[in-house]
Amino acid sequence: MSVRVRVAPSPTGDPHVGTAYIALMNHCFARRHEGQFILRIEDTDQSRCSPQAAEAIFAALRWLGLDYDEGPDVGGDHGPYVQSQRVAAGIYQPHVERLLDQGDAYRCFCTSERLADLRAQQQAAKQAIMYDRHCRDLDPAEAASRAAAGEPHVIRMKTPLEGDCTFTDRLRPHPITKAWAEIDDQVLIKSDGWPTYHLAAVVDDHLMGITHVIRAEEWLNSVPKHLWLYQHLGWTAPEMIHVGLLRNADRSKISKRKNPVSLLHYQRRGYLPEAFVNFLALIGHSHPDEREVFDLAEMIRIFDLDRLSVGGPVFDTDRLDHLQGLYFRALDDDHRRAEIHRAIDARLDELLPLLRERMVFGGDITFLADFLFARSVSPHRDDLIPKKWDAARARAALEAVLKALRQQAKQQPEVWDATALEELLRHQAEALGCPAKDLFMIIRVAIAGRPVSPPLFDCLVILGRVAVSERLQQAALRLR
Ligand code: GLU
Repeated sequence: MSVRVRVAPSPTGDPHVGTAYIALMNHCFARRHEGQFILRIEDTDQSRCSPQAAEAIFAALRWLGLDYDEGPDVGGDHGPYVQSQRVAAGIYQPHVERLLDQGDAYRCFCTSERLADLRAQQQAAKQAIMYDRHCRDLDPAEAASRAAAGEPHVIRMKTPLEGDCTFTDRLRPHPITKAWAEIDDQVLIKSDGWPTYHLAAVVDDHLMGITHVIRAEEWLNSVPKHLWLYQHLGWTAPEMIHVGLLRNADRSKISKRKNPVSLLHYQRRGYLPEAFVNFLALIGHSHPDEREVFDLAEMIRIFDLDRLSVGGPVFDTDRLDHLQGLYFRALDDDHRRAEIHRAIDARLDELLPLLRERMVFGGDITFLADFLFARSVSPHRDDLIPKKWDAARARAALEAVLKALRQQAKQQPEVWDATALEELLRHQAEALGCPAKDLFMIIRVAIAGRPVSPPLFDCLVILGRVAVSERLQQAALRLR
């Protein structure tokens, strides 16, 4: 049997480092076994997905050299490779009909209000949040006529009420057992008629002939539902392999607040794709000779499912930078020169409008924008303290700003623009009872390393959330 694997990202926002990580493992496994690697776009949550985000995934995988044999932009015999197009082609419907006919799925007419009440009650009683199977025993014929009359409803799977589901995962030493009673009657078709991830992924993996599902550990809990679907649709399930999630240095699940998670960030920052791939390979899969530097071809040669990391590969940016340095220094002169031009050119469009007013010569960019390229800055302690302030007050102000930014990141992770930042910081100044210009000065010095810089809020935007909080934290430390 020829190996067929896939990566199945949802196109929401920028392409994610986790997608690259899972794609790399699948790509290497397919190439190692001379099988096929497929890209499928899972966009059934239409409110969160966009075609632009899908395009960005194609480009990011191309940038990393992770070519796929079948996918939306390369075609193949098992298409379409975008789930919304598969919905339009009516691919999922017959399978749900089959489950309904077999009595393995049912229509549920519970309103969102009822479900919200139920959730609130379960939360208050500290019970697991799950559907109470209210509609499970409705007469199917009656339910079908209510549905035909246009009554809004979802279709749920009828999970067993008793017994256990036991399965194995290649990377885990013992079989995993879950009691069916704790597994929700998963929605398969939403009230808008669209399939949920669970149904769509199982149907597609089957129809696309997927032999191994290598994906992130966060999906491990979904395995019983998926196995149930395979069984009740009369299909053989692929082997499922769940690799550890990428983690921040403190071992929490990788998050925007602690590490940039957008591949575009790394691309723009000037990381060489070879260094980035080497880094992902190194943190996720050990080399049998404990080598640190190896390319994609070598990774394919040594790839072994049993060497995949389960504990959680740590996205250690120091290690990434170390590798980047090795690759950068190994470039020949022409490539290195091209990289230097690329690094500057890639950012010129955003920098020029900010710098234009201050420039006399082209080369001025090197000192006007140095702090935007630098990995860190070293502000003078005295510059961080406005006139008539003391160090403790300046430190407290920085800490308050950090806290406000953290909160903003939680509440509005997608918002990072000059207007929003200005509003947030003006509001902070008011809350602290200090002149806004004093607070802005502290922040400017903290991020630029000196009291003069191009417009502050634009600089914050260009630096990005992670670098801004790092620099503010460093500045607060200097004031201790
Ligand atoms: N669309 C899912 C994701 O974004 C894919 C999960 C899977 O590989 O089954 O991670």
